[in-house]
Amino acid sequence: MRAGTRFDDAVARTAWPIELHDRPEGYVWEMFDSDHIHYVPLRSMTPPDVHNLVAAGRCVDGDAAALSSVRVMGPCAAMGAAAAHALHLAGTGSVHDADLGRLAGRLTANLDGHEGYPR
Ligand SMILES: Cc1cc2nc3c(=O)[nH]c(=O)nc-3n(C[C@H](O)[C@H](O)[C@H](O)COP(=O)(O)OP(=O)(O)OC[C@H]3O[C@@H](n4cnc5c(N)ncnc54)[C@H](O)[C@@H]3O)c2cc1C
Repeated sequence: MRAGTRFDDAVARTAWPIELHDRPEGYVWEMFDSDHIHYVPLRSMTPPDVHNLVAAGRCVDGDAAALSSVRVMGPCAAMGAAAAHALHLAGTGSVHDADLGRLAGRLTANLDGHEGYPR
């Protein structure tokens, strides 16, 4: 996860800090600047070798730092919505071929931070 990068296949966004619970001494917070946002790419939710499986929430692929941020409830809900729209747009085809522009259009309320309507 590179801070602030909006990937071509971005489907969810969050500003939650890195919040690691990976050591017995306690947890680690790494805060971002107040205007920071980072994005979850669809490719982290679609196992490459499986035709039509979409993961969301704690099941997505990412390194420990990325997962320590995107696993909280807001981005989990956003990923769930993105998974549902990706599967709907794929129809009888593969979710790997989903139209990323149409998908982003359906997710604009989260991705762009304003009210949007499905296209
Ligand atoms: C103690 C604790 C405190 C937290 N506090 C916060 C907080 O304050 N704010 C925040 O944003 N996040 C918090 N989190 C993190 C956040 O709640 C989780 O990371 C988030 O809920 C993960 O969402 P998920 O959809 O990946 O998994 P889950 O919410 O765990 O959902 C998975 C669901 O799948 C079900 N399931 C499992 N196996 C099967 C099966 N075989 N068949 C059918 N269903 C199954 C489970 O019952 C569960 O309902 C906290 C987490 C914990 C553990």
